[in-house]
Amino acid sequence: MALYAELHRHLGGSVVPRILWRYFQRSDANLADRFPEYASFEDFYTKPRNTLDEYLELHTLVEGVQTTQTLPYFISRLIRGAYIFENLAYLEIRYTPYLRTSPQLSQSERIDQMAEIVEIVGKATQTKEYPIITSQILCMHSRLPYEVNRAIVELAAQSKGYVCAVDLAGGDAHYAERLDEFVELYALARSLDLKTTGHVYETQSGCYPELIPYLMRIGHGIQIPLQYPELLSELAANGQCLEVCPTTYLKTGTLEDIRQLKLVFDRCFDAGVDIAICTDNAGLHNVRLPFEYENLLTYDIIGFEELQACQDAAFRHAFAWPYQQRPASLLNGLFQASINDTGNGSLGREFAEIAD
Ligand SMILES: [Zn+2]
Repeated sequence: MALYAELHRHLGGSVVPRILWRYFQRSDANLADRFPEYASFEDFYTKPRNTLDEYLELHTLVEGVQTTQTLPYFISRLIRGAYIFENLAYLEIRYTPYLRTSPQLSQSERIDQMAEIVEIVGKATQTKEYPIITSQILCMHSRLPYEVNRAIVELAAQSKGYVCAVDLAGGDAHYAERLDEFVELYALARSLDLKTTGHVYETQSGCYPELIPYLMRIGHGIQIPLQYPELLSELAANGQCLEVCPTTYLKTGTLEDIRQLKLVFDRCFDAGVDIAICTDNAGLHNVRLPFEYENLLTYDIIGFEELQACQDAAFRHAFAWPYQQRPASLLNGLFQASINDTGNGSLGREFAEIAD
């Protein structure tokens, strides 16, 4: 059985429409009135938007209901789905902790409450029934003030039991006027020994070469192979990996056709730049990770060999995967041990035949 690593999933976009709609029906009279029928809610929630900004607006709907009280519920559903339907062995979940704090508090009180949010998320992701190795990525946000973003970086550094990295989100067109700030905060993150990723080169308005040296992975980054392929050799030399989330670009209007991704994969493979295939917002898209894989095969964007290379790359570039190998190799070791233990044991032999 192949087990997968998911490196780019937002907590806000991870709630599948049916779970969210049921939650509204039970617990939120206003939203239940607004969406009395499931089918029309699913249409509204998953339909493509014209721009990245319009798409990101939708996150606010979910962020508003993900509070200290409800986060354990939403996370338990996320982990259950990821284990049962997506075969995830490893998951990095990302979010902006400030946007889950109580809005009636002052800014400094909300900053203080962020540590509690990190702990709630950390505890809720560790379940015995659905064991997945998880870690958190805390997102700085382009619409939050400097003090809050700095506190997010500092909190990440103080919470290494739960948090592996920092990210920058909120729409890549909005970093330009504050680029120096984000460069400084990424430099701070690296000095605190944090891992780094960042949403850049997702759209044509979000290309900042100044940020690339600070990023260990690049969130999306598809405009690099599409518009600036001359940068690829530098990425390859630095071992920087792209987190490519195929469905997103159709939902945000960034690409018109998924087949445009063929050039992204071809140029990255040619240049030796690793790609991890991710979902970004599996709930919001209603597309789980195995279907992202399958879509890429169906449209002949990649073949099985390339798919496996990307799946391997996801484990290799995972910030908190504690093993040298991906789980398939570990399981193969178990199968081998079972064959050796049982001699001619039928169980071992059957597994060996299946593996052939
Ligand atoms: Zn994202």
